[in-house]
Amino acid sequence: MGQTGFWTQLVHAGEKLAPPAGRPVATPIYATSAFAYDSMEEVDRVLGGETPDYIYTRYGNPTVAALEEAMRTLEAGAAACAYASGMAALHAALFTCGLGPGSTVLASRDLYGASFALLSKIFGSVGVKTVTADFNDLDALRVSAHAVKPAVLLAETLSNPLLKVCDIAGCSAIAREVGARFIVDNTFASPFLCQPLVLGADFTVHSATKYLGGHADAMGGIVVARDGRDGASLLSVKKLVGGMLGVWDAHLILRGVKTLALRLEKQCGHARRLADHLGTHRRIARVHYPGLSTAAASGLLGRVLRAPHAGALVSIELKKNTREAAFRFMNALQLCVRLTSLGDVFTGVSHSASSSHREVPRADRAAIGITEGLVRIAVGIEDMADVEADIDQALEAGAG
Ligand code: PLP
Repeated sequence: MGQTGFWTQLVHAGEKLAPPAGRPVATPIYATSAFAYDSMEEVDRVLGGETPDYIYTRYGNPTVAALEEAMRTLEAGAAACAYASGMAALHAALFTCGLGPGSTVLASRDLYGASFALLSKIFGSVGVKTVTADFNDLDALRVSAHAVKPAVLLAETLSNPLLKVCDIAGCSAIAREVGARFIVDNTFASPFLCQPLVLGADFTVHSATKYLGGHADAMGGIVVARDGRDGASLLSVKKLVGGMLGVWDAHLILRGVKTLALRLEKQCGHARRLADHLGTHRRIARVHYPGLSTAAASGLLGRVLRAPHAGALVSIELKKNTREAAFRFMNALQLCVRLTSLGDVFTGVSHSASSSHREVPRADRAAIGITEGLVRIAVGIEDMADVEADIDQALEAGAG
């Protein structure tokens, strides 16, 4: 084409430079909604799947694909798909298990509150039933699984917020006995601490918003499947429900993943130190920390998490076990951040009863052990002396 007008130049100038011969050493952010080809025949081949390539970012995008491939590798799976959030990822994994009217999900009673709500409100509305069980009692779980014949078992590697350790290999065996798929939410552990697929699970799900991203500046979710045949369904959910991960978040999460081990190794050491420090505190009735639990004593912890680690979270139950005392303690914190998230470089505290488990009826919360005076601490990478000093002064100022 000859000389174009100024308005045309505004829109098109600079957009047709040849790609560089040198490969970028970091995955570029492909901030493009679509991909253009020289001919409609090529477009047709890509749309028809004869030429595997990108056409429309809802279907796939190289920045997102780089994160998916990283997570597939780290979780030792066969297929991975990224979504806009951990909830979107969990929805995709559940959908991929072929749930329909009359099918049952056998869920750990220690799940994140919104996961229960997803099961009851969204899947419940199409006739899927949810039954809960104590996944820490394998004998009872087996009886329950044989009785309800679930299509899916669902649990968390480390439960939110009581940090119970799931015997993934044991639960996988029960799932197989009854012909169910087993989904593990690995958000609290990350693939650095645990690879559920290696232990026998069918799917591992993450809120990438947490340890994978690690800096509280991105949201995302990932599903990794052990069986490559599940990849098509995971992709369909992404394409048709449309909750795919955006490229900016994919970039931030991929960058976060590179320092996952560095951060978590430090955070796990800090959590152990904090659990020891708080174990004898006069304002605290109980410390929930996998390293001090029966799972550690029985050897289960070492079979599930990468030794010698016990996770990077510590939950505390105040002696004055009321919401008011918990709020006073949290309000008095000057360094630790009050937020309804976790897994960041800073130490973050959250009040489970009023946030992650707000929708769970109070009596059910109490039955699980999520009391009003329970505060979850996700330990960061700061100097621990500073974090401990902050928590100590806030306990003195507020928790009495
Ligand atoms: N799974 C667990 C264990 C979580 O704690 C959360 C959120 O806190 C989610 C899933 C949902 O993740 P997202 O907020 O990224 O949707």
